[in-house]
Amino acid sequence: MRRPLIAGNWKMNGTKSSAEALLSGVVSGAASVAKAEIAVCVPFPLLYLGERLLADSGIQLGAQNVCTEPGGAYTGEVSAAMLVDFGCRYVICGHSERREYYGETDEIIAKKVSVSIAAGMKPILCVGETLQQREDGLTEQVIGAQINGVMSRIGIDAFDRLEIAYEPVWAIGTGKTASPEQAQDVHVFIRNKVADESAAIAEKIRILYGGSMKAANARELLSQADIDGGLIGGASLVADDFLVICQAG
Ligand code: 13P
Repeated sequence: MRRPLIAGNWKMNGTKSSAEALLSGVVSGAASVAKAEIAVCVPFPLLYLGERLLADSGIQLGAQNVCTEPGGAYTGEVSAAMLVDFGCRYVICGHSERREYYGETDEIIAKKVSVSIAAGMKPILCVGETLQQREDGLTEQVIGAQINGVMSRIGIDAFDRLEIAYEPVWAIGTGKTASPEQAQDVHVFIRNKVADESAAIAEKIRILYGGSMKAANARELLSQADIDGGLIGGASLVADDFLVICQAG
């Protein structure tokens, strides 16, 4: 059985004081979460706070991006080793916002996944189609290419050490959620794609859903056989809402 993972993606939100309140709120409610593993992926400047406030809480810390290079003259970048030094267990790679706004290609994403695994973290590899692609009937083709773009570069064995998040771009921050059936169909497609290379890894790998997951729809989505957790944007910024999702996991 795959233990559900509920990961918050705070994106570019939070101040020292709001983050302290939010982290403390999540920590104090986490005891009521029976089953799911919980993680919060905070902006870089707040990692120090996450490391301090999540210590001994059982809640994992994560980052939202990582440099492809190990260190040195890369102004403005943050290395995998630095993230590990601040206690990160997870790192989001290939989020659609980074693909779209920062030109991240499959090649760059594969490198980020690879350096993160080498540093001992678990990447959360995001894939997802746009509304136009879905309407054109290209969903499986797009997601298949995104998975291949990483798998062909880093190999199937690396998939034993990462999580996948299916995040339909049209559902991110829009209030529109994929129906449980729509999400389940794509999750099965992804798992089968991994199974083509390794049945054992396909059985183990966690595939999270992301895109307007909230307290009101989490349980139905998470009850699908191949939805193994959630990657939560907006609803992870309110402790009580996030905790309800964690309890649904
Ligand atoms: P929302 O939950 O705000 O739709 O964001 C989803 C997401 O992009 C998580 O990475």
